[in-house]
Amino acid sequence: MALDEFRAEVRAWLRDHLEGGFREVKGLGGPGREHEAFAERLAWERHMAAHGWTCVGWPEEYGGRGATLEQQVVFHEEYALADAPARVNHIGEQLLGPTLIAFGTEEQKQRFLPPVVAVRELWCQGYSEPDAGSDLAGVRTRAERDTGRGEWVVNGQKTWTSLAHESQWCFVLARTEPGSERHTGLSYLLVPMDQPGVVVRPIVQLTGTSEFNEVFFDDARTAASCVVGAPGDGWRTAMATLGFERGVSTLGQQVGFRRELAAIVALAERNGAIDDPLIRDRLVRAWIGLETICFNALRMLDGAAAGASGPEASIGKIYWATWHRALGELAMEVSGAAGMLTGSGPGAGPDGLDDRQRLFLFSRADTIYAGSNEIQRNIIAERVLGLPKEARGQAVRGRH
Ligand SMILES: Cc1cc2nc3c(=O)[nH]c(=O)nc-3n(C[C@H](O)[C@H](O)[C@H](O)COP(=O)(O)OP(=O)(O)OC[C@H]3O[C@@H](n4cnc5c(N)ncnc54)[C@H](O)[C@@H]3O)c2cc1C
Repeated sequence: MALDEFRAEVRAWLRDHLEGGFREVKGLGGPGREHEAFAERLAWERHMAAHGWTCVGWPEEYGGRGATLEQQVVFHEEYALADAPARVNHIGEQLLGPTLIAFGTEEQKQRFLPPVVAVRELWCQGYSEPDAGSDLAGVRTRAERDTGRGEWVVNGQKTWTSLAHESQWCFVLARTEPGSERHTGLSYLLVPMDQPGVVVRPIVQLTGTSEFNEVFFDDARTAASCVVGAPGDGWRTAMATLGFERGVSTLGQQVGFRRELAAIVALAERNGAIDDPLIRDRLVRAWIGLETICFNALRMLDGAAAGASGPEASIGKIYWATWHRALGELAMEVSGAAGMLTGSGPGAGPDGLDDRQRLFLFSRADTIYAGSNEIQRNIIAERVLGLPKEARGQAVRGRH
């Protein structure tokens, strides 16, 4: 289907369906606001599923639409332009699904993909631990085989687990070979959250809300067949998921960024900040930066279409995260003294924060999650520029 035709179809569908009760969910959710109208947004997403508008980029045989990358970008653009609510099933659709399609057994695909398409089961990502964030190879959560019952038994702690409190399943990176080190001996396990061995504790964030959690596994169980890729080869699977997280899944967000920038420009025009030459300069630079993000995204599309992976995604991640964090700071500059007061600005929510304050606070996390800026720079240095690898593990610790 021609791209214009596809755009018209998406636009018309969203126009016709974000109506009635669903009109209420327009513009809700998003970073720092995941708690907003969660049940209503879930209902909206199930409605999308019933009309075949979830997982549009997945192959048709797994319930998707087989949309090309360009079509996926168009879909995300139209979605944001329609002011449709933030998606609740992002982790299942954009991270777990593509990973299973690439590495899962046929049995796993049949079991786990349909409930993602239908938004019947939500997923969370169990990578980070108190001592294993950037250095993911330091994972200590372990899993052992109980051959008698044909199950894995999982013990350990994860942290910063987004949406764990809403999720039915978690993909967990765990050490399954005792005595193994670093990237070896890890496995990628699919673990049900609704069982006595799993405890989820919310963590309160800078915005005052709780999008993520600590998750404790205490003799939690999952079936022997719930390992993706070969046991002990989980690193490869986990890295593929990170590639999906940094790559195509972020392509649609530029429209949201454009709206945020437009709102800041509008405020600057209203309150006179636009007359300050330094603010004008920063607004123009923000606009140029956004254009750069869009062009890099197109380059990434080309690379992804040609089967390339990795480095372009890191360049994209570092660029948009830094740009968006700076936009949050600019939003505060433009707000002036009013930015210091909560509960006063236009559109202030029940948390007392207005959109610009929430943007400022949450965007501090952009350069951390999905791989911090420093880690992206390491990837670019080593894998793009071919610079020598930095000292890791013992060598680094030994210096302290
Ligand atoms: C909003 C949000 C949502 C998240 N959601 C999830 C989730 O759903 N699931 C999940 O598993 N995780 C999640 N995370 C965790 C996230 O992936 C980690 O925070 C991130 O990987 C950084 O790890 P860390 O916090 O342990 O920091 P650390 O690794 O301790 O890093 C601290 C600082 O040191 C720097 N640093 C570390 N190592 C190096 C190095 N070798 N060279 C240079 N600098 C270095 C880092 O860049 C950083 O600035 C989330 C985080 C946030 C903020």
